[in-house]
Amino acid sequence: MDAAFFRAWLAEAGTVIEAQRDHLTQLDAAIGDADHGINLARGFAAIAAELQQAVTPTPGSVLVKAGATLISKVGGASGPLYGMALRSAGKSLGDSADADLPALAACLEAALAGVQKLGAAREGEKTMVDALAPAVGALQKAIAEGAPAAAALTSAAAAAADGAQATISMQALKGRASYLGPRSVGHEDPGAASTALIFGALRDVAVRQAP
Ligand code: ADP
Ligand code: MG
Repeated sequence: MDAAFFRAWLAEAGTVIEAQRDHLTQLDAAIGDADHGINLARGFAAIAAELQQAVTPTPGSVLVKAGATLISKVGGASGPLYGMALRSAGKSLGDSADADLPALAACLEAALAGVQKLGAAREGEKTMVDALAPAVGALQKAIAEGAPAAAALTSAAAAAADGAQATISMQALKGRASYLGPRSVGHEDPGAASTALIFGALRDVAVRQAP
């Protein structure tokens, strides 16, 4: 997977987030401040604009540039958290021109570590970590079982979607939703929902390019 693959992923994620912007914002209206879709749509539009003109010849440079863009352009919790995720992922890829499937898994593991370093959320606390962590785990398992990229990323996307659904029954212990206490139960976490969309975009780009 080369730099063009990673640019295609971010473009696809931006398209899906724009299409789901109101849905993500409605999820945030229930347990937050109704800005998650707006925040992310603005952030991914800024990524698209930045990647149009910046020179990003390697997968790592694409992700680092995207992460830095989110950090500088998006407020709220999710801008810095997703920014950190992408930047950590990009740094883990170094300068190589191509990332194989294990390198992609390692970079997504670095993204998870970056989110947890910044936000200190563990699984079960009703955040994006509840989609991201199972997706990384499913990807690693699929790779260990010898799955090709499209199949492995299909498993990862399914785990992210399941993880997002599982946040419905959780009580929020981190972020703005935690202010609601037990009243946060019964709603899908917006950040987990957007993480599932981003993994769905990764799956779609990989399936499209599969041999
Ligand atoms: P804000 O909460 O500042 O309005 P957003 O609405 O854009 O920011 O994003 C909210 C999402 O951020 C939540 O749904 C949750 O998934 C995620 N989030 C909040 N705090 C944390 C944290 N400490 N660790 C991981 N994710 C978090
Ligand atoms: Mg919000």
